[in-house]
Amino acid sequence: MTQGNDPESPMESWPIKPTEIDYLFLTHAHIDHIGRLPELIRNGFKGEIICSHPTKALLVPMLTDAMKFSDIPVEDLRGIEKTIDDLSWGFECGDPFDLQKGISFKMKRAGHILGSCFVRFEDKNNGCSVLFSGDLGAKDAPILPDPEAPETADLVVLESTYGDRLHDDRTHRIKRLGQVLTRSLSDGGKVFIPAFSLGRTQELIYEMDRLFSNPVCQEMFPALQGQKRPPVFVDSPLGLEITKIYAQLSKYWDKEARDLFFSGDHPIDFDGLYAVESHRDHLKLCDAKGPAIILAGSGMCTGGRIIDHLARGIEDPKNDILFVGYQAVGTPGRAIQEHADKPGGYVYLNGDRKTINAKVHTLTGYSAHADQNDLLNWIESMPEKPGAIKLVHGEGSARSTLKDVLEKRGYTVQ
Ligand SMILES: [Zn+2]
Repeated sequence: MTQGNDPESPMESWPIKPTEIDYLFLTHAHIDHIGRLPELIRNGFKGEIICSHPTKALLVPMLTDAMKFSDIPVEDLRGIEKTIDDLSWGFECGDPFDLQKGISFKMKRAGHILGSCFVRFEDKNNGCSVLFSGDLGAKDAPILPDPEAPETADLVVLESTYGDRLHDDRTHRIKRLGQVLTRSLSDGGKVFIPAFSLGRTQELIYEMDRLFSNPVCQEMFPALQGQKRPPVFVDSPLGLEITKIYAQLSKYWDKEARDLFFSGDHPIDFDGLYAVESHRDHLKLCDAKGPAIILAGSGMCTGGRIIDHLARGIEDPKNDILFVGYQAVGTPGRAIQEHADKPGGYVYLNGDRKTINAKVHTLTGYSAHADQNDLLNWIESMPEKPGAIKLVHGEGSARSTLKDVLEKRGYTVQ
């Protein structure tokens, strides 16, 4: 599923009909990778859906939420959810599996979100192999194990989202989060954090948990501890549902998260973390006074509960808005970032013009995607150079920059 203004390619123009597809592989449960599954099913797809166990667990909640905003009739929704559940199979990473017609596949962990993987296919009839990277993560992401090293392949279909960028160091991220929260909360206002429900929300909860429970962080940020600690609200039904699934799948966490869990500190739960489920409680929270930290979707302020918070709170200079994710051109999130420092800067929220008096911060280093170095390191960790690389999932400049860098290192890029 495309995001933003990119046109969707109609299924009728695909070289294969949905009814003819035997297997559908999903690398992870982000909506741009699974969003057209209901459409595929409505067009007659009856094959098997193959993914990791965590992706299978995340699939239906993510699609159910997305379908609420689609043109699919309500009476069809249950049937589609059931079909997806019936057709999908969760696999473990690391083990090879044989499919029909001499094709085998193996998934490995991609470190992008929980359950994300890359998949390598091999045709035993002719020895030909293809590797799909899906979305690749970076090292040291909270909760997630690092991406695994790939085996070589004749063709690698490689993501290139940040093929032209380098991320800030992730290791100082908690410190910067602590500094921003301390400053923002010192005047008793609210801190609004627009966050994607899948991935970013859980990472933020994890890092706030560390801020509140790690002895070094406790000493560094005294204003965030004990009685002075502000309540943290997750005001997102989907974000809460996904967080529950993350919490149940501890087997797929990284060592740090598992060690914390076994030492008695649940890494994505802490005293003072509150779930806001009902719309009534959401409205109460909108009207409540600070200090408070509020996580709500959508991540780019294009809809969802964050809009109500911003509409009521953005004109109050005591409040702060903290961006932890990329804000695409044309979204209210981007407009807030761009107009915040201008005198009389404003944004339209729910159709009303609002002056941006709240302070606006952007924390970088929160991308779930590998940057240029990570992509190069990943491809160079193959035991042999692949026959060819095809770049996908990146804007034009990201793709062409990465293509140049790869070619300079002797890779064939199509
Ligand atoms: Zn993704």
